[in-house]
Amino acid sequence: MSTPDLKGKRVTVVGLAKSGVAAARLCAREGARVTVTDRRGEEHLSAPLAALAGASVRRALGGHDPADFEHADLVVVSPGVPMAIPELRAARAPGVPVWGEAELAARFLPAVPIVAITGTNGKSTTTALAGALFARHRRTFTGGNLGTPLCEHVLEGGGAEVVVLELSSFQIEGLLSLRPRVAAILNVTPDHLDRYRDVDDYAAAKARLFALQQADDHAVANARDPRALAMAESSRAALHTFGFGPPAPDGARDPGGEPGAGGATELWIRRGGGAPERFRLANRALRGRHNRENAMAAVLSARLLGVPGDAVQAGLDAFPGLPHRLELVSERGGVEWVNDSKATNVDSTYVGLSAFPAGAPRVVLVMGGRGKGAPYAPLRPLFPGRVKALLTVGEDAPAVERELGDLCPTEPCGTLEAAVRRAAALARPGDAVLLSPACASYDQFRSYEERGAAFRRHVAELS
Ligand code: ADP
Repeated sequence: MSTPDLKGKRVTVVGLAKSGVAAARLCAREGARVTVTDRRGEEHLSAPLAALAGASVRRALGGHDPADFEHADLVVVSPGVPMAIPELRAARAPGVPVWGEAELAARFLPAVPIVAITGTNGKSTTTALAGALFARHRRTFTGGNLGTPLCEHVLEGGGAEVVVLELSSFQIEGLLSLRPRVAAILNVTPDHLDRYRDVDDYAAAKARLFALQQADDHAVANARDPRALAMAESSRAALHTFGFGPPAPDGARDPGGEPGAGGATELWIRRGGGAPERFRLANRALRGRHNRENAMAAVLSARLLGVPGDAVQAGLDAFPGLPHRLELVSERGGVEWVNDSKATNVDSTYVGLSAFPAGAPRVVLVMGGRGKGAPYAPLRPLFPGRVKALLTVGEDAPAVERELGDLCPTEPCGTLEAAVRRAAALARPGDAVLLSPACASYDQFRSYEERGAAFRRHVAELS
C-alpha cells in the first residue's frame, strides 16, 4: 500500500490522549492542516497540549464542532473515543474516511510483520511477553494500547523489523487495511457493555481483526473460548489454537493439570502434526493458569514468525512480568509479597488467587477498596486449603467480610499500611501475602498503580 499524501489535507484528530497527540504530530509532520478536538476543555488537557507544543495544529476543545468532522478530508480517532459518537457517524455519511490511530500509523510503516494481540483480559501481559520474545531475535516495536502508540514509533523513524501491538476492541474498529501477520485472541468475556449492545456486538468488533488477514497469515485463538475460536476460524489465515491437554496437531498446549494443581512446568508447540517442541515454564512472573495461556499465545506467535526456540526459551525465563499483576515485590524471611493491585474486580482476584496452589492454607489475602457492587461469593471455592487469613481494607471491607469472613480468620485493618503490618505478623516462611483487592482503589488512592506502589513501599518499610 502506498503511503498516504496528507499535504494540505484537512485532518481532524479526535481525542487528545497519548495516541491522539502522536497522531496529530504525525499528520502535522506530513503537512496536513490538523485540527485536534476533545470533549474536555483546555484546563483538563495541559499534559497533551504541552506534548503538542511546536506542532502546527488548530484546537477545538471543550466539545466537538460537527463542521470539523463533516468537512474534513480525514478523521483520525484515538482509542478512547467510541466509534458510535454522532459526529463520527455524521463524518462517515458523506464519505469522510475515519481511521483509528493504529491504522494511520500502519500506513506509514514499511512492510514489516505485525503481530496483533487482543482479548478481554491478558492483552498487556501477552503483548509485553511476545515483544520480549521477538526482541531477542529482531528489532522490535512493542506498544499500541500498552505503552507507546504506534504513531510515536513512526515519528521516531519506524525502524522496527517486527511490530507487536496490543489492540483493544475500540482500536480494532478503526482499522481498515492494517494486516496482522499474526492475530491472536486470548478470550472474550462480557466487558465494555456500556459501549456495545451485547457481548456478540463486542465480539464482532474484535472479529474485524481477523477479517484483515490473508491466507498465508496466522490466526491464534484460545481453544476453550468458543467466541474467540469462532473469530479465528472466520479468518482466511491458518488457524493455531492454544489450550490445556494433549498436543493438538497445530498449536500450543500446556499438558499440565487442573487449576491449582501446582502448575505445569512445560508448554508444547506443535506445527503441522510434527513432534512437539517443549518449552520450560518456570518463571514465577508467569504463575497461574491465565498466564500460561498468555505465555502459550506469545510463544506460538514468536515461533510462527521464526523466532528461534532457544531465544524463545531465554525470553520466557527472563520475562520480568508487568507491575501490579501478581508482581513479586519482595521475598523476605521466606515469605512472598505479591502485588496484584490491577485486580480491581472479582474476576481478576479469582485468577490471581487461583495462581496459588491449594493443598495447604498459605496465602494471607488482602482485599477491599471501593466495591463495584458485584458479589464476592464467587471466590468462596478458592478459600479452603488456600487462604490462611483474610485482611480487609477500605470502604467495602464490611461486604468482603460478610461474604467471605466465615471461611478463615478475618480481620478488618482499615488501611493498606495496617494490613501490611498485620500480614507480616501472621505470615510464616513458605507463605505468600497477596494484595488482590477485587475492588477499585479510588476510596483511598488515585489509581491501582498508586495502590500497588503504596503496597511495595509499606513492604519495604517493614523492619
Ligand atoms: P489487559 O491488558 O487485557 O487488561 P493484563 O495483562 O493487564 O490484561 O491483565 C489484567 C488482569 O487480567 C490480570 O491482573 C489478571 O487478573 C487478568 N488476566 C490476565 N490474563 C488473563 C487471561 N489470559 N485470562 C483471564 N484473565 C486474565
